[in-house]
Amino acid sequence: MFQISSFRTSGKKYSVENGVCNLKFYALTLPFKTKPLKDTLKHRGMRNKLADILVSKGISDKKVLAAIRTIPRHLFMDSSFEGHAYQDKAFPIAADQTISQPYTVAFQTQLLEAKPGQKILEIGTGSGYQTAVLLQMKTKVYTIERQKELFKKTRLFFSKMGYRPKKTIFGDGYKGLPEEGPFDGIIVTAGAPKVPKAFMAQLKVGGRLVIPVGTDDQIMTLYIRNSEKEFEKKEFGSFRFVPLLENKN
Ligand code: SAH
Repeated sequence: MFQISSFRTSGKKYSVENGVCNLKFYALTLPFKTKPLKDTLKHRGMRNKLADILVSKGISDKKVLAAIRTIPRHLFMDSSFEGHAYQDKAFPIAADQTISQPYTVAFQTQLLEAKPGQKILEIGTGSGYQTAVLLQMKTKVYTIERQKELFKKTRLFFSKMGYRPKKTIFGDGYKGLPEEGPFDGIIVTAGAPKVPKAFMAQLKVGGRLVIPVGTDDQIMTLYIRNSEKEFEKKEFGSFRFVPLLENKN
């Protein structure tokens, strides 16, 4: 005998048990594994604790801390790591990449000193968490990712969450984004063996470039463009990033 046990229509699941049709809601089916985008008071409490840890580690920029308290980091991670979202640790995301440690995100954002309305270029969209922090600070973000899988996944996630970068680009960030430059700030979230010249060229006078430089581990480096020809360089200790690689994948 042919029997229907369940069927789906327009975001609702109907299951048929003993001839009784039950209605259940289910998460919209999308090409990627989805989960309900739930942010609870408990998550918020954990974020506040995380922000306190970052303060104890030396983060002092109030706007950066407010962004950490606001952005639901657990939603940027694969669900198997969700329980760890509010530890101050990096975790794997798709395509063998990582979501940066919250301290690193906060430290880089603090060095960037981004003001509302400024144009910021981010190299390495990854999970989109750093992008969301920059958007929370009311900057105009242009973000580039070289891994197609991550790019597609994160772009979809941005639209589901209502995050609106000016541009989310699949491409090789090594070249910067000359057609949209110059930028008030450039933030590189992968370890660069050397500083690509394009980043210097696409910085406004007064602009800031935050880039981890090195191969095995990286020195967090800040360049400030003091004039057309003059850059000031400051170094801020050792960090660990996945490598900045050339070309798309
Ligand atoms: N900001 C991200 C960090 C992800 S890790 C987050 O918060 O999750 C760094 C990312 O840089 C990886 O996704 C990697 O694929 C990307 N990447 C490396 N080299 C790149 C390049 N040349 N252009 C664009 N993205 C690059």
